Amino acid sequence: MGFDVVVVGGGFAGLFTAHLLRRRGLEVVVVDQADTPGGVARTRMDDGYVLEPAAGTFLLPHPHLTPVLASTGVDVVPASGVRRFVYTRGRLIGFEPSPTVAFSPLLPVTAKARLALEPFVPSGGDGDETLAAFLRRRLGDRAGELIAALAARGVFAGDPDRLSAEAAFPALVALEREAGSLTRGAVRRLRRRPKGVPRPTSHLPVGTMADAARRLAGSGDAWRGGFTVSAVRPTGDGRWAVEGPETLTASQVVLAVAPAVAQALLGDSDPVPFPAAPVAVVWLGGPNERMPIPQGFGYLAGPDTDLVGLGCLFESSYAPARAPDGRSLVKVIAGGASRPDVVDLDDDVLTGRIVDEVGRVLGSDIQPDFAVVVRHRPGIPQYEPGHLARLAEVERRWPPAVGVHFAGWGYRGVGVAHVAADAGRLADRIVEAVR
Ligand SMILES: Cc1cc2nc3c(=O)[nH]c(=O)nc-3n(C[C@H](O)[C@H](O)[C@H](O)COP(=O)(O)OP(=O)(O)OC[C@H]3O[C@@H](n4cnc5c(N)ncnc54)[C@H](O)[C@@H]3O)c2cc1C
Repeated sequence: MGFDVVVVGGGFAGLFTAHLLRRRGLEVVVVDQADTPGGVARTRMDDGYVLEPAAGTFLLPHPHLTPVLASTGVDVVPASGVRRFVYTRGRLIGFEPSPTVAFSPLLPVTAKARLALEPFVPSGGDGDETLAAFLRRRLGDRAGELIAALAARGVFAGDPDRLSAEAAFPALVALEREAGSLTRGAVRRLRRRPKGVPRPTSHLPVGTMADAARRLAGSGDAWRGGFTVSAVRPTGDGRWAVEGPETLTASQVVLAVAPAVAQALLGDSDPVPFPAAPVAVVWLGGPNERMPIPQGFGYLAGPDTDLVGLGCLFESSYAPARAPDGRSLVKVIAGGASRPDVVDLDDDVLTGRIVDEVGRVLGSDIQPDFAVVVRHRPGIPQYEPGHLARLAEVERRWPPAVGVHFAGWGYRGVGVAHVAADAGRLADRIVEAVR
């Protein structure tokens, strides 16, 4: 069967791209090996709990994600807990996510004094700096180490010494480039923000992530589940054949799968390597009185801790509908780039360890009667130094003009909002190629 575009992969990247292309009049089909859309973010329902194995919130408003959700009728509501916590120096320290965090007890006075000098630090590091090197240079060792660890863990389950600042947090690096300082750059951006546009905050879809994915996928022939693609080959007449249970042809193909899978489908025998870090997601649930969790969004583990759980989200606090009445639910993300071995622990061993840790961090025993573990392998993409050069190499081997395009969290941002922004750029490029 012939289409304008075949999208391989029905996670959010593929679904956004397909949706935007359809709205511009192209004939598009999304194929996925799974029966239902959503990719890693496909919701599980278990014993009255709603388990979101990957993305659980969206940062909104966002110039690309807000319109794409609105145009598919995915309603969102603000998350009800805004207070964040960090576990460091043996204490759980709470703060509001705003610039006033600089005055919180997260940092000792000497580190705050050094932080205040940031605008006077000369700009320019060496080449493709790591996130840790970049932030230590700008903010001083103490603040730089803490903030780099929290950013790396919170977004990538990553190691700040092994992430490229430029590839992983381009907006941060751009502040230095544009204004010579993160502080000056942030103030300029705040001033430039159009009046009436609020600061982005965490939002949840009404319903589940799987509901949002189903709405994006649409009905009828636009979505084909249970379709494992085995190869993508040129047909010889300027089109592409997507081979699976049947062969579909199109002038453009979007490979919205992990970079390693995309390159294998194209038959590349010397693929460009894109590292990822495995994570285990552990949910613990139980009656409120046995699971006393604070009001708020969750905590991240500081760099001075030996926790295997990098962060813990207070699901039933910020998203009450994810737990039955009278019950609490937390979601812990364990493993990642620094402790990939943790992901291989048996469910019972891992769960026991997480129960102890969460109790230690919260300062009171927790006694869950519900536990589920989901593992993501190969896991969360890690934008290590050299990532941007690797992207350029993929584009050199497969220039957009040949009609093959790469989408997803493996490339230009791991959050759903990044994936939506990328889908917008890709849709523009494809529409131009087809017309
Ligand atoms: C623990 C965790 C927490 C997260 N939290 C957040 C968050 O709070 N907010 C946020 O914005 N983001 C979050 N993310 C990131 C977010 O979930 C991802 O950005 C997003 O889901 C990635 O979507 P994708 O389409 O790029 O990839 P995927 O979801 O991996 O989709 C790829 C699809 O390709 C299909 N596929 C693979 N091979 C084939 C083949 N041969 N043939 C056919 N189909 C194939 C797969 O079945 C899959 O459906 C989190 C991620 C994790 C792991």
